[in-house]
Parts: sequence; C-alpha cells; structure tokens
Amino acid sequence: MPAKIIDGKLTAEQIRIEVAAEVDKRIKAGKSRPGLATVLIGDNAASQVYVSSKQKACIEVGIESFGHELPASATQEEVEKLVSTLNADPRVNGILVQLPLPAGLDEQRVLNAISIEKDVDGFHPLNIGRLAQKGRDPLFVPCTPAGCMYLLEKEIPSLEGINAVVLGRSNIVGMPVALLLVRANATVTICHSRTRDLPGVVRQADVLVAAVGKPEMVRGDWVKPGVVVIDVGINRVEDATRPRGYRLVGDVAYDEVAQVAKAITPVPGGVGPMTIAMLLRNTLRAANLSD
Ligand code: NDP
Repeated sequence: MPAKIIDGKLTAEQIRIEVAAEVDKRIKAGKSRPGLATVLIGDNAASQVYVSSKQKACIEVGIESFGHELPASATQEEVEKLVSTLNADPRVNGILVQLPLPAGLDEQRVLNAISIEKDVDGFHPLNIGRLAQKGRDPLFVPCTPAGCMYLLEKEIPSLEGINAVVLGRSNIVGMPVALLLVRANATVTICHSRTRDLPGVVRQADVLVAAVGKPEMVRGDWVKPGVVVIDVGINRVEDATRPRGYRLVGDVAYDEVAQVAKAITPVPGGVGPMTIAMLLRNTLRAANLSD
C-alpha cells in the first residue's frame, strides 16, 4: 500500500491560524503586539526570498515585522551594533539574522550577540547547548528541526524506544533534529559523509530524517517496510518540461520510498512550510515570555 502523505502545508496553515488567534488574544488582553526583526546582510537572492516570505507570514498572523538590511560590505561591528540595538528595543521580541552571512563576517560572534530571550531561530550557542544537555531546556528550538518533530509526533505520538536514523549532522538541521529525537527517548543513529554502509544503517530505521542536500539519494531498497520518513532536502534538478527549467526534489527518491514507507513528507509541501510556521510560534513564545 502506498505511504500516507504527511501534509506539511496543511499542518503549517493550521499552526498559522493558531498563532493568529493567540496574537489576537494578546492584543485584546491589552498586551503588546509580538514583533520580529529580520536582518538581511548582502544581496544573496535566496536569502532575500526567505526573508520576504518570513516578513509576509508575520504580517498575515498579526506579528509586527521590522526589516533591516545591511550591505555585503557591512563590518562585524556594524552588524553587532544593529543586533545590540534590536536587543534593547522592547517592540522586538525575536531577532532573525538570515544565514549564511557574507564572507568575512563571523557567524558565531553574530549569533552570540543575539539576546537569548530573542533567539527565535534557536541558534544561539546557549540554546543549542541546553538542547544537548539532560535536564536543561532551550528557550527556543531551531525552526526546521522543530517542524520535523511536530510532523513526526503527529504520526507517532510516542517515539520512545524507536530506532531513528538521521542523515546529516549540520548545525541547522541534522544535529538539532538528532538531539530532539534523543530528548523524545528515541534510539538515534546520526549518519554523515563518512558513514560506512549507509543503506544498511538506514534499513534499521523506524523513523528516517533525511537532511543531506543530495537529490533523491535514499532509494526504495534502503528502507524497511513501515518506516516513517521526514525528507528535509530541497534540491533543484533540471527539468526542461517545467516553466522554470527545474523542479524541486528531496533527499529521498519519493516514488520508490513511498511504495515501502508507512508515511512520508513530500517535497515541496512537507517540511518546507513548517519552518516559517515554527518561526511564528517561536516569536509568539518570545512575546509571551517577555510579559
Ligand atoms: P549541509 O550541507 O550543511 O549538511 C549536509 C549533511 O549531510 C552533512 O552532515 C554531510 O556530512 C551529510 N552528507 C553529505 N553528503 C552525504 C552523503 N553522500 N552521505 C551521507 N551524508 C552526507 O546541509 P543542511 O543540513 O543545511 O541542509 C540539508 C538539506 O535540507 C538541503 O537540501 C537543504 O536545502 C535542506 N533544508 C531545508 C530546510 C527547510 O525545509 N526549511 C531548511 C534547511 C535546509 P558531513 O558532515 O560529513 O559533511
């Protein structure tokens, strides 16, 4: 039987509606309107698109959006000064510095400069450190990993004791997803470019999270029947039949794996829309924490 399609677009829309209702409740209760400041440095086209969708999503749910742009030539001091101004601004509950930064800027120092109470992207070393420690809780969980967990826990309410395999160990997706799965009491294997016999390891998975950035790498015969698959990959492959000349595919060969899996996220329409939904949730949470 073909796999159930895990509809991230629909779930993200439901979350946006919930956030909008909560924002409305805050305003009616005389509390401040939540605010998100975005910081875009340089002219990376993809970053511009991401930032403008985040700003649009904020406005749609009633979150105030403060857009800040700096040229690619901005110095480390200028970026940190802007962050520190935003840290001090009471209208700003969340600060999102769009990554990657232009060459020459120190990402770690910029992320460190964001006040932990406003770290709605969840990349501050303190938040990541807390995520990795038993008995500690981060104030904010990074948005894409949080989106993966949200979709997964809707499918499998208790992940306790299940075998979860995470493909990829990046700071942004793979590692935080793995940490979240450990916190949910799954038994977690993290794979990366040096992993031996990747198909053999993946075949052990009850849950597979793929975040490698390699188009359709995971094949149908890599997975065991009944696996639940969260495909984070967003890859462009040439396709002359499409108006833009390309189409988007995940890290998983969807048509093959969907024949074997119990449930799977599509690309697009799976994890992608969840990232912004989680950012909106985190911003609302930041506002609630600041009351
Ligand atoms: P990175 O390039 O930072 O990390 C990729 C990871 O995959 C690394 O850990 C790397 O291993 C591992 N890897 C690469 N090649 C192989 C291989 N052949 N076998 C096993 N492991 C391999 O990518 P990101 O984590 O930033 O992104 C992953 C994918 O998710 C991309 O397609 C990206 O576009 C997408 N993405 C989607 C988001 C969304 O839906 N909103 C948000 C962020 C990312 P090693 O560490 O050894 O180099």
